[in-house]
Amino acid sequence: MKKSILTKKEAECLMEENSPLYIYSEEEIRKNIKRLKQAFSWNKGFREYFAVKANPIPDLLEIFAQEGCGFDCSSDTELTLASCINAPIMFSSNVTPAEEFIHCKELGGIINLDDLSHVDFLAKTAGIPETICCRYNSGGNFDVSPNCMGTPGDAKYGMTKPQIFEAFEKLKKLGAKNFGLHAFLASNTLTNYYYPKLARELFTLAVQLKNKLDVNITFINLSGGIGVPYLPDEEENDIFLISELVKKEYDEILVPENMEPAIYTELGRYMLAPYGQLVTKVLHKKDIYKQYVGCDACAVNLMRPAMYGAYHHIIVLGKENMPLDHKYDVTGSLCENNDKFAVDRMLPQIDIGDILVICDAGAHGSAMGYNYNGKLYCAEYLKTIDGKFKLIKRAQTPKDYFATFRIDPETGEERW
Ligand SMILES: *Cc1c(COP(=O)(O)O)cnc(C)c1O
Repeated sequence: MKKSILTKKEAECLMEENSPLYIYSEEEIRKNIKRLKQAFSWNKGFREYFAVKANPIPDLLEIFAQEGCGFDCSSDTELTLASCINAPIMFSSNVTPAEEFIHCKELGGIINLDDLSHVDFLAKTAGIPETICCRYNSGGNFDVSPNCMGTPGDAKYGMTKPQIFEAFEKLKKLGAKNFGLHAFLASNTLTNYYYPKLARELFTLAVQLKNKLDVNITFINLSGGIGVPYLPDEEENDIFLISELVKKEYDEILVPENMEPAIYTELGRYMLAPYGQLVTKVLHKKDIYKQYVGCDACAVNLMRPAMYGAYHHIIVLGKENMPLDHKYDVTGSLCENNDKFAVDRMLPQIDIGDILVICDAGAHGSAMGYNYNGKLYCAEYLKTIDGKFKLIKRAQTPKDYFATFRIDPETGEERW
């Protein structure tokens, strides 16, 4: 059963200052990182490079660094975010400007090339580093039935198999010494067979590359894609089983070839989604053709339901044991009809002033925020190990929002 990070009392207290708000659990975040590391402890060089795009707040990044993780970045600002915390960097970007390759190389990060043409581009701009990675796209469909399918053939990322061979050959000629292989073929997978199947594909390719080109493959990057159960009756992934099945492929394919590359992951959702929640207050109720509950958060705070029709479980604080005998649409205040956190959701009787906890919002939640309708980013708190509440991102102010306009709406003055 999904549980609120905050008690009702704690929520009421914090919401006197800031509503809506995000809350994260440090304890749960650390526990999950330790579990992942333990699961992959059979692999000597294993490292998780947390996908910064899932949640870039530095206090959260610090937790990952303290637990031995690196950071997976894909933009200049993400590189800056990662560089303010001392941890290894992976740069898995696409359509990359020259300055970003240069920035990454200066920081000593590992560049993961998205395209064959980027080999020459990199040689001309930042120069070819000693350690380099290439992103593979297997094309077609990547079927990890029964409940998951990726469609790499429709994705803009990565290189075809012949291109990977050409890229490695070129890079070797240009002075690269250590090689990595990366692929991201399915997202939010709720099956224990995605990583093992992906591993088999990448390990096999790694052997072919080594044998044909005599390249030193030092790591395989399984990237992100392990999902979390957003629905209350979905079963969560078993990271120990996933790791065991990856090890089976490793022992079968790589070990006989005398290869022992490090396994890297770039998980985002799996590392943080369940450990962050959006907490919002009910402002209004409305009864027309359907029954609506309107709250002070809206899609700018969490856009997954509006964007993908994604399910996020909702807990009504203090009413956890009441029957789910009312059907509501739970909405925000945007002038967009898709601004709904839930549609036709069975919930207990809701009253104005009730506090709703929107679960599994820790990854790709506030990170996807925006300012549509002049709505502002909300405050974010960390519940620390010792039970304190630390403000880790303050709420955006109108001044913040107005800061980039030529005319300052608060004074009418021209800035330039
Ligand atoms: C988004 C992304 C990730 C993280 O994906 P999750 O689904 O959050 O695990 C990892 N690597 C790359 C290159 C990405 O774009």
